[in-house]
Amino acid sequence: MKIAVLSGKGGTGKTTVSASLAAVLPSCQYIDCDVEEPNGAIFLTPELTKSQSVKVLVPEADMSKCNTCGRCANACQFNAIAVVKDKVLVFPEICHHCGACIIACPNDAIKEVERVIGVIEANVDDTFLQGKLNVGEPISIPILVELKKRIKKDTTVIIDCSPGASCTVVQSIEGCDYCVLVTEPTPFGLHDLRIAVELVRKMGLPFGVVLNKASDNNRVIHEFCEKEGIELLMEIPFSQDIAQSYSRGILPVQNNNSWKEKFEELHHRIERGAGK
Ligand code: SF4
Ligand code: SF4
Repeated sequence: MKIAVLSGKGGTGKTTVSASLAAVLPSCQYIDCDVEEPNGAIFLTPELTKSQSVKVLVPEADMSKCNTCGRCANACQFNAIAVVKDKVLVFPEICHHCGACIIACPNDAIKEVERVIGVIEANVDDTFLQGKLNVGEPISIPILVELKKRIKKDTTVIIDCSPGASCTVVQSIEGCDYCVLVTEPTPFGLHDLRIAVELVRKMGLPFGVVLNKASDNNRVIHEFCEKEGIELLMEIPFSQDIAQSYSRGILPVQNNNSWKEKFEELHHRIERGAGK
């Protein structure tokens, strides 16, 4: 079963939930798809012995064949290639590697060259994988594609997604059996939860909500879930102890048996929700 853990915004406790779930399962594969800030390894402390660069292909013009006709630039939907005087300029950071400029060139003047955008790291048996996008790179999809190629079929897979509801999240949750939406009881939390709910509903994926930093004084998430018929899977109270442990890289399940049992129950609820 593939379980995606996502949140409409950063800082809601998404990694606490995904890493805690991984920590209570007897065996699983954990994939950190939060490629701009992967921090599941801080809590799960895998020994990352494998590393592989992720490369994309970007166009490069051979000016000995080019007649500066401009068809390549006209074909590009992303303004990633421009013809200026007697030069063809490529802006690799915004290139989407679609190959349209190559097809459009009448003189076979464009070839593709490799460009490294990040890395995939893993432990020896691939039960822990993480992607890292190089600083300044805007497009992370190729790293997610590479990570998802390594999904194991014979175990529970936990996917820690990027925050938000962008195309990187769509790529991460596609094909998952269940989505856990982590949120907090604030107006921003509710706003971003609505967006995340809309996304998973559009994709037809079963889902439930984990409420982090829950407090008796604020019921906005409870009311929203009740009105929308969404299962509230678990509540994690606003707690100084949990925050202090987190700041030291310790998950609630690692020093507290009652939290271990609660996350085991969360896993059972997810299984039920996914019809497994
Ligand atoms: S490969 Fe696609 S996105 Fe990149 S420069 Fe060519 S047309 Fe533009
Ligand atoms: S389409 Fe080909 S020939 Fe025309 S400007 Fe681009 S690279 Fe040069």
